[in-house]
Amino acid sequence: MSREQEGRLRSGSGMTSQRARERLIQRLTEEGVSDAKVLDVIRRTPRHLFVDEALSHRAYEESSLPIGHNQTISQPFMVARMTELLLAAGPLDKVLEIGTGSGYQTAVLAQSVERVFSVERIQALQERAKERLVELKLRNVVFRWGDGWEGWPALAPYNGIIVTAAAAEVPQALLDQLAPGGRLVIPVGTGDVQQLQLIVREAQGFAHYMLDSVRFVPLLNGPVI
Ligand code: SAH
Repeated sequence: MSREQEGRLRSGSGMTSQRARERLIQRLTEEGVSDAKVLDVIRRTPRHLFVDEALSHRAYEESSLPIGHNQTISQPFMVARMTELLLAAGPLDKVLEIGTGSGYQTAVLAQSVERVFSVERIQALQERAKERLVELKLRNVVFRWGDGWEGWPALAPYNGIIVTAAAAEVPQALLDQLAPGGRLVIPVGTGDVQQLQLIVREAQGFAHYMLDSVRFVPLLNGPVI
């Protein structure tokens, strides 16, 4: 079976159907996601293509799922919430994402902002994510295999930075790479539960907002093959 046929079959089957997606949108709305643009992008994005076929029937559930290499695809609510926080002050041009993983958050960002720059330390995950974005014809994303603690200095500054793994502390490099008015959304902490933070670069210094308790895999050090 060709990849295309397989894709068609998968998108037509039970829980990967449009109905399952509508139920997800309903739940996200109930949980407090209110940005219509973000909800619309999530409705349009086939999350089942970002997980292993064996798990695709669970793709529209409100849960994180394994993607190999001890990593997980973020919960739809977290993706919606973080995207909403990033966009809350208006449209964004350049966004840096740390932790590409499956590429699902990347795909949501690609449909919500002008350009996405995405850094991942595990090369195999990054390669698969790249393929998925090509399949979905999302072409405004560039990828870097590297250590997210360093950001992507060559292309800085960014209007938004989103980190999808928990950092022991806010990486200085990411603060340095925020444009004036730029917004950084990042889970911070070392325990099982961390705190989602929003940091906004102001004329003088940074404003810090402490938000929800969240659960992310840790932001680790250095790239690996
Ligand atoms: N947004 C992704 C979440 C993936 S989990 C998704 O929805 O699929 C977090 C990701 O961060 C993992 O892929 C992990 O490999 C990556 N990561 C962890 N530490 C990193 C670092 N220092 N630099 C870049 N990526 C890192």
